[in-house]
Amino acid sequence: MLRDRLLQQFIQEGRKPVLLVVDDQPINIRAINEVFKDECDVLMATNGRSALQIAREQRPDLILLDIIMPEMDGYQVCQQLSLDSITADIPVIFVTAETEVNVEARGFEVGAVDFITKPFNPLIVRARVMNHLILKIQMDIMKDMALIDGLTGLPNRRRFDQALLGDWNLCQREQKNVALLMIDVDYFKRYNDSYGHLAGDECLKSIARALQASVRRTSDSSCRYGGEEFACLLPFTDQEGAVLCAENIINEVKNLNIEHKTSDVSSFVTVSIGIAVRTPTLDVQVEQLVKEADEALYTSKQTGRNKFTVYAL
Ligand code: GH3
Ligand code: MG
Ligand code: MG
Repeated sequence: MLRDRLLQQFIQEGRKPVLLVVDDQPINIRAINEVFKDECDVLMATNGRSALQIAREQRPDLILLDIIMPEMDGYQVCQQLSLDSITADIPVIFVTAETEVNVEARGFEVGAVDFITKPFNPLIVRARVMNHLILKIQMDIMKDMALIDGLTGLPNRRRFDQALLGDWNLCQREQKNVALLMIDVDYFKRYNDSYGHLAGDECLKSIARALQASVRRTSDSSCRYGGEEFACLLPFTDQEGAVLCAENIINEVKNLNIEHKTSDVSSFVTVSIGIAVRTPTLDVQVEQLVKEADEALYTSKQTGRNKFTVYAL
């Protein structure tokens, strides 16, 4: 079955689904643990407060939530989960002894995806939970895919825009520099014309790997900006650091030794780079940084290619 295959693939990738079971009666938690302990990592909480804390810190894939608990009941927990952006997307299944229609209706109102009634049948519980787990995992995979460029595996433009705004705001708060490098392959149209589009694709993949090798700090990120353009985002980096990174990129691409016989600037594939560095201030929009890096890239293209230019503020 597709469902089982997906789960299998998920587990092979080293991820085991994580369940959080919340119930004030440990005996109920143990019963559920028995059903899932082989396939899932099972986290446990015996009250609402610790359930919320565990959910925030461990981000389980699904929560099985008792409704009637002292202090904070299941409805309240579910509501709190949905108000917190970190936990809002975690599906919640209520586990309850009540079979009243009102109880179920209220549960769906506060955001539950399903109900399981106690005492439960292990086979039914397993099937229900697995169905919801698969949906959650599929959603996670699709969310990841929406941010990754299919050809190179680098983050795509959408992801880049998010990261850029995040780094811009972070560096504004910290009053630190953020550097942006825009990178464009030289005479790439001619490369496609000379070697074919598939070779062009391979070339872009190699350049993506060269970029990743050049950008090494964990806070740095590179992406495919579009077509044969890439971008590197370097928070907490001054002009000197950005220049060093640009030199690395030019060298790494050169060392790929990809033949390009119709380039006017070299017999191998080269790139041009534009660099912009700023300490963000409230009166400047993040788009300004992109514009400046673009202008610097244009200057590199106009003044010989296979080089970098720093935008002069
Ligand atoms: P310049 O040195 O001024 O940057 O010239 P250029 O030829 O590199 O620039 P231009 O913008 O004229 O051409 C870009 C080319 O990149 C044209 C387009 O077909 C090619 N390209 C864009 N995306 C892809 C892709 O995914 N795969 C391949 N093979 N080619 C691509
Ligand atoms: Mg271009
Ligand atoms: Mg180009």
